[in-house]
Amino acid sequence: MLKYKPTIGLEVHIQLSTRSKVFCADKNEYGSAANTNISEISLAHPGTLPVLNKTAIEHAIKMGFVCKSSISQEMFFDRKNYFYPDLPKGYQLTQDKTPICVGGEIQIRDGMGKFKTIKLTKIHLEEDAGKLIHEQTSSFSMVDFNRAGVPLIELVTEPVIENDEDAVSLLIELRKIVRYLGISDGDMEKGSLRCDANVSIAPLGLKELGKKVEVKNMNSFRHVQKAIQYEIKRQGSILEKGNEVISETRLYDVDSGETYDMRTKEELNDYRYFPEPDLCPFYISQEWLDQIRKQIPILPSQYIEKFIHQYAIAENDALTLTESRELAQFFDQVCEKSGNYKAAVNWLIGPCKSYLNEMNCEINETNLTVDRLTALIEIVDQNRVSFSVASSEILPHLFSDKTANPLDLGIKLNLLIDESIDQIENFVEELIKKYPEKVAAYKNGKKGLLGMFMGELMKETGGKIDPKKASETIKAALES
Ligand code: ADP
Ligand code: MG
Repeated sequence: MLKYKPTIGLEVHIQLSTRSKVFCADKNEYGSAANTNISEISLAHPGTLPVLNKTAIEHAIKMGFVCKSSISQEMFFDRKNYFYPDLPKGYQLTQDKTPICVGGEIQIRDGMGKFKTIKLTKIHLEEDAGKLIHEQTSSFSMVDFNRAGVPLIELVTEPVIENDEDAVSLLIELRKIVRYLGISDGDMEKGSLRCDANVSIAPLGLKELGKKVEVKNMNSFRHVQKAIQYEIKRQGSILEKGNEVISETRLYDVDSGETYDMRTKEELNDYRYFPEPDLCPFYISQEWLDQIRKQIPILPSQYIEKFIHQYAIAENDALTLTESRELAQFFDQVCEKSGNYKAAVNWLIGPCKSYLNEMNCEINETNLTVDRLTALIEIVDQNRVSFSVASSEILPHLFSDKTANPLDLGIKLNLLIDESIDQIENFVEELIKKYPEKVAAYKNGKKGLLGMFMGELMKETGGKIDPKKASETIKAALES
């Protein structure tokens, strides 16, 4: 039995997608050759001054709107002073006193699908540092300043997350939101989304929280989950022995799956925060806020609501269809165009999703269009081609070829249902003779064998028969 209750609070850094950096015109671009996006400002030459990026502010405010935070209309930046080789200025510009978004919440679903609300402390805007590169074989380290000055939002939750699964659900939800908003690519592998997890445990029934340990800078969902699990266990065994957990910062070791200490509270940096004197305080007008609010696109929760109520889609399917904005939009448009909602779900969740997973891409990165999927649904509805032939033989062409039209493909590849095959009965009779034991088993209650007979019949006829008629004929023959 569990004797301790874990509590988790997350601090999540999200790189914003902007053309230029947050305080200068250098490119904000991932993957450029090292040290190419660096002017004197990124390198903090004496006399250079920061200028705030308007888009970065708008991105942060959009996030705040979605999280129902209150937006600070008056704000300034603070210098957070510390020395590190990836930080050319010797301080980071951040918002200590006036975070752009205060409070708020995010809804997640736990492992059972139940809604939970995670309260936020704040979201603030800041700049990223450069990147140190340590190569195992060399006796020195290198630094790439391209990332120095890239805009970040840091989102801080209250200590209210109850377990590792919910922590990961929150991160997945966050990634989905920033992608829908188009404010970040949310790619953890690229470091666009990074997470510090604060973990504590306290005896069950006790109201006060235990001493927290912060595990820094993880960039995969799995690492976050493993690190939290490990910390809960480690802290449990400390308390078990009658000892106290030390409040400290730890790092997660990917290879061992364990965390190890980096620094204790005593060694905590004194950041000597003070307001950045080179930037005046900012005022965000109500008009500007209204304008930004208008740019918020349809969000996953709104799509889910629409899909369930307007298209009568099962909740689980609606969740799958809204995993990405591209897929949700595509599905919505196919529904509007075709009117056959059920077919649209089957196509997108079935064969289309398999293809996208296999190619690891979004639907708008393929050649499939709303018009052509709608046309494909239509010819299946008209019984001109069976679903299985359409999905295995026609769909792949629609993904790979820009212009191919479903009906033309059906004709060209000789896949259309051949109305002249009216001797389905003859084919069925042959099958019944070929598999007497299966027929007996079917009669004894193994109804699932219908599928096997269908498969055989489709093979014999090259799939060019009306599946409904075929299944009726087989059933009639088996049950006679
Ligand atoms: P610090 O001053 O060390 O940065 P904060 O109080 O600002 O600490 O909190 C930072 C993060 O730690 C937040 O996400 C918060 O939810 C989390 N946190 C605070 N106290 C606890 C605790 N006892 N257990 C777990 N997480 C906590
Ligand atoms: Mg902290």
